[in-house]
Formats: sequence, C-alpha cells, structure tokens
Amino acid sequence: MKQVISDLNYLFDFFKQRNKQLYIVGGAVRDMLLGKIPKDFDLTTDALPDEMTHWFDNVIDTGARFGTVGIVLPGGVYEITTFRRDLQYTDGRHPSSVIYTDDVHLDVMRRDFSVNALLMDGDGIVYDYVGGLADLNRGIIRAIGNPDDRFSEDKLRKWRCVRLAAEQAMVIDDETKASIQNDPDISGVSMERIQNEFCRVLIADKVTWGGYLLLKCNLIQFLFHERDVHFKNRDWRHSFLEAFEAMAFVPRHLETRLAMLLHSLEPDERELFLTVLKFSGRTRKQVLALCDRYQVNCNDIVDFKQTIAELGHGGFATLLSIQQGEAAWDDGSLKCEIVKKNKRIYAGIVERGDPIFARDLAVNGRDFVAAGYRGAQIKQGISAALSLVYRYPEYNNRDDLLSFIDSYAETLAEGEK
Ligand code: ATP
Ligand code: MG
Repeated sequence: MKQVISDLNYLFDFFKQRNKQLYIVGGAVRDMLLGKIPKDFDLTTDALPDEMTHWFDNVIDTGARFGTVGIVLPGGVYEITTFRRDLQYTDGRHPSSVIYTDDVHLDVMRRDFSVNALLMDGDGIVYDYVGGLADLNRGIIRAIGNPDDRFSEDKLRKWRCVRLAAEQAMVIDDETKASIQNDPDISGVSMERIQNEFCRVLIADKVTWGGYLLLKCNLIQFLFHERDVHFKNRDWRHSFLEAFEAMAFVPRHLETRLAMLLHSLEPDERELFLTVLKFSGRTRKQVLALCDRYQVNCNDIVDFKQTIAELGHGGFATLLSIQQGEAAWDDGSLKCEIVKKNKRIYAGIVERGDPIFARDLAVNGRDFVAAGYRGAQIKQGISAALSLVYRYPEYNNRDDLLSFIDSYAETLAEGEK
C-alpha cells in the first residue's frame, strides 16, 4: 500500500505540473470512505489519451477506444480515463462512441450509481455531484438519473447493481430496484460478464442478501425463462433462497456455493444451469460431482469411500464443509451429529491410510490381464477389488487380491454366458 500511495502522489504531482486535473474515482473512493482498502485505483482526468501515451514510457493500451490508458508504475497498473460523455448506446452494453470533455461533472453523470461517482483529488478532498455521499452514509445504491434509461443503455448495470449490494451490504433504492424488476432483460450482454457478476455475488460478504436480490429482481428467473427452461422443482426459488441462506455458513468458495445452489435441481437441469452461465468444463465437473454425492453418509462405508475416490480429498473436504454449513444453518442437532460422525470416520480413514484409489491397491492392471481380463473387464475388476478393500482393508495384499481376481473372473464369465 505504501508503494501505491507514493505512485498516486507521483501521478497527482505529475498532472498538476501539466495543468491537468486528476481525480481518484469510482470504487476506490467508495471503499476508502467506507474504511476499506481499495483493490485498485481508477483515475479520471481531462488529459487526452494521446497526451498520456506521449508522457509515460510504460503504458498499456487497456481501452483506448473509450479513453482509458493503463499506466504502469512500481505499485501496479493505474487505469486513467479521460473525462468523457457517452454517446448513444445501441447494443445494450456499449456507447456507440464517446466524446472527451474537460468538464468532470459530465464524466460523473455517465457513471452507473451515485456511490460509484464520487471523486477525490490529490489533497483528499471529496467531490460529490450526485448525492453519492448521502447514499453511501445510508447504504443505498441508486442509479444516476432515470434508472430505466440507465439500465437500457447498459444492461450489465442490473447485475452490477445487485453484486454491489451484496459486496457492500447495501440496499437498492426502490425506484432503481423496481426498474430492474420490471425489465430484467440482458440482451446484448455477454454471458461471461453475467457469470463474472454472479460469481462475485456467490462469494460476496452478504451472499444471502445478494441471492435474495437476484431472485427479487427477477434476474436469475429471466436467464432461464428466456430460454424457455422450466425447472421441475416448482419450488426452486424457495430452494435457492434456502441455499443462499446456508451459503453464509460455508467458506467463500465458488464451487462449494454453486453445488449448494444447484443440488435441488435435477441432474440435467444442473448441467443446463452451468452451461447457460458458461462455466468452464472444470467447474462444471466439480460442481456436478459434488451435487451427485451430496448425501454421503458413513453408514455405508463402501459408498463413503467411493465418494472420496470420486471427489478426491479436496472435494471430499468441500462436501463435509457443505454438510457442516447446512447443519449449522438448519440448527438441527441430528444433522450436526451426522456431520460429526462423518468427520470422525473420514479422519480415521486418512489416519489409517485405508486404500481409496486404484493406485492404492496391492495389485495393478497387469495382474488383471495376467488373469485373463480384457478391455472393460479390467475396469470392472478394479472397481470390484476396490469395493472389497473398502469394506475389508485387510484384504489389500497381493495374495488375497490375486485369489479374489481369479474368483471374480469366474463371476464375470458366468455373467457373460
Ligand atoms: P470494483 O473495482 O470493486 O469492482 P468499481 O466500482 O471500481 O468496483 P469498476 O468496474 O472498476 O468498479 O469500475 C470503475 C468505475 O467505473 C465504477 O465505479 C463506475 O463509476 C464506472 N463504471 C464501471 N462500469 C460501469 C458501467 N457499466 N456503467 C457506468 N459506469 C460504470
Ligand atoms: Mg475498480
């Protein structure tokens, strides 16, 4: 942070010497006023992009079309945007073009919410042209100007609004909220951007509040109704709300929380949900596996160990944290007892080093081939041997397993007759 402060001082001096205005704007001012450390600093100036590119050696062309230049200094990259006015929005996401201005007031008016439109100069003086300070004090997110107009210009702002409320524990002003509720359409916005906002809600400080707002504002419903998808669980909104509540009791981990959200859906619907939101193959796989194994219970030791094998130790720990979180949310002593027992059994398995994965077996694929297994039979044989040692770990030695392989080969042959 020390380096960042010295970089900022350098920039303020540098611009002042050239008779240019420079302000910190947006999330950084908001966060500082809330007593939080900003993750990055966006700046705004009346200097033109070409001027800045000319002045600095280390410049990244982050969004020159919209007047943003990234300046690389020892503490990081500082995005400096020239004061601008946005011309007509035609695609529901971007202005058709921008006009630079030397009037910071106009720049503030194009920003999304009043709490994101505060300016701070090099002396730490805050400038507020849109009632942002009052809204920040009362914890209100309010669109600047007419919310219907602002949301139809750039539909991503609807999701940004809810995400901001969840991250900052703020309420949405009534008129702003009603505007989203009445028109949750997001056409023109890429699903990757929506996914990004959705993930930020899922790992936000106030995830329960964020989930409630996503449903209240019809944003999640819209994604699916638009595709004519109707979940079989008619009560899915209620299940989602409960999941968003329980999420507050588990770590802020994306896959964990996605699995909690989706397990009340049918397997094909879960897949569809993740596909519509364009989650990566890796995330989809992890979340779907967690959902499939959601109810793991140590009363069936084979199933319990199979679950560890399938999810890996990391995934299994996630599953236990979900069970624990849901039990805490539910305040159900029976559930808490089950989780405690699951944890105890799992700790024992790890401590004893019970065989879990195929690589832990005292025999390997070659032993199966030597015993006459071919193709798919090998996989079948390995999973039968694993089931055996899951129940009786003491059989995990070559002699016992080789004789098991022989006798199981006969069972397979019988089955194929
Ligand atoms: P954080 O960095 O914590 O996500 P932020 O408010 O800094 O929050 P950025 O996406 O970095 O968000 O944007 C910086 C500023 O640019 C915002 O505070 C806001 O003033 C403006 N802004 C960003 N996106 C939009 C948008 N879609 N419409 C209007 N103004 C926007
Ligand atoms: Mg920012």
